[in-house]
Amino acid sequence: MGINRRNFLSVFTSGILGFGFFKNLKANSYQERSGEETQSFKIKKYNPLGNTGLKVSDVSCGAISLFNPNVLRYAYECGVNYFDTAESYLRTKSETFIGQALKDVREKVIITTKHAYRDKEKIEKSSIIKRIEASLRRLQTDYIDIALVHNIDDLSTLKNEELLSAYYQLRKEGKIRFTGFSTHNMKVTLKQALDDDYKDFVQVILFIYNHLEGKEIEPLIEKVRKRGIGTIAMKVFAGGKQGNLKKFISKKVSYPQAAIRWVLSNPYIDCCIVTMSSYSHVEEYVASSGKPLQRADLKIISKYQREVSSLYCRVSCDKCLSSCPNNVAINEILRYGMYFEDYGMEKEAVRYYAELEEKKKPLLCSNCPGYCERACPYGLKVKDRLLNVHEILTV
Ligand code: SF4
Ligand code: SF4
Repeated sequence: MGINRRNFLSVFTSGILGFGFFKNLKANSYQERSGEETQSFKIKKYNPLGNTGLKVSDVSCGAISLFNPNVLRYAYECGVNYFDTAESYLRTKSETFIGQALKDVREKVIITTKHAYRDKEKIEKSSIIKRIEASLRRLQTDYIDIALVHNIDDLSTLKNEELLSAYYQLRKEGKIRFTGFSTHNMKVTLKQALDDDYKDFVQVILFIYNHLEGKEIEPLIEKVRKRGIGTIAMKVFAGGKQGNLKKFISKKVSYPQAAIRWVLSNPYIDCCIVTMSSYSHVEEYVASSGKPLQRADLKIISKYQREVSSLYCRVSCDKCLSSCPNNVAINEILRYGMYFEDYGMEKEAVRYYAELEEKKKPLLCSNCPGYCERACPYGLKVKDRLLNVHEILTV
């Protein structure tokens, strides 16, 4: 039986569900909702995920900056059934939170987790199996619905025999149901995914798709979906700068809802994941489920594009990289800046930046004429931005 927000909270605070974390709840901090309003915070559409046989909520939950398992549980109560996490998110705590929040409804939800293999040379079957089994323990489950190889730029990683042997063994044992990959480099990887070589492994793909960096890859999305591969969009808010721009605080039209509807208006996208780190996020995002893109949505999207186009470093873009004589990791650094300023992931952004090799940091930019800036077709003030991000992320 579904429960609405009000009685959900009373169930939680009375401890009936038996979670140890409800003590963090402060009932008086929540707005009360009428029954009618609560109904609008329900998922209205579930789509088949490629040929997996799974059906996923069109608006689904990404847990990159999740700090409260109760929020995840609330998303579930609102009908969200697909939850995306990764070993690396919050240094494994994101998986732990998902386990805490969803263990008693495990069969009703679909869980994806991701593991990155940075050094292709050092991939070992036994270590992959250990890492995935550790994820299973944190998630408090016997199986992962979808295990993705995390953040790959080309699919050569998926030819590694140790990796394939580990994932296929786990799939055979039922510890993983489906496999695939996540990527920021869609132009290359989506094309490669059409190759028969990857047919057995690539069942689901998670990739960037939004109104500022999606148009070019639409023909590829259509092709991979027609091959039966599940398609999941991420980074749908195109930078998520609306929280820092007063112009986008509007009671009438929500930019995040418009951005979600834009993504879901593509019939070849099975679902999108959005970071739901507060109750109000859950309600705002879930309310866009199952609704067609409106004229008002396109209007606010155009406004966002005008305001943000020259501020947002497209995550999937590398157009300025070859212009830099010092091989600065421009797009990666600007992405960490976005995590810090726009996603509210301060600690994670600082950690990611600390892990970046020193030689890839903008240490020589002050004395450079800014070749990268000239190369950026979107007019970003790249050099100043890099120096600024370096300053805020260096502790
Ligand atoms: S300003 Fe920095 S990132 Fe840009 S081209 Fe010069 S050294 Fe490279
Ligand atoms: S700074 Fe401009 S050209 Fe460079 S990666 Fe970002 S959007 Fe692309």
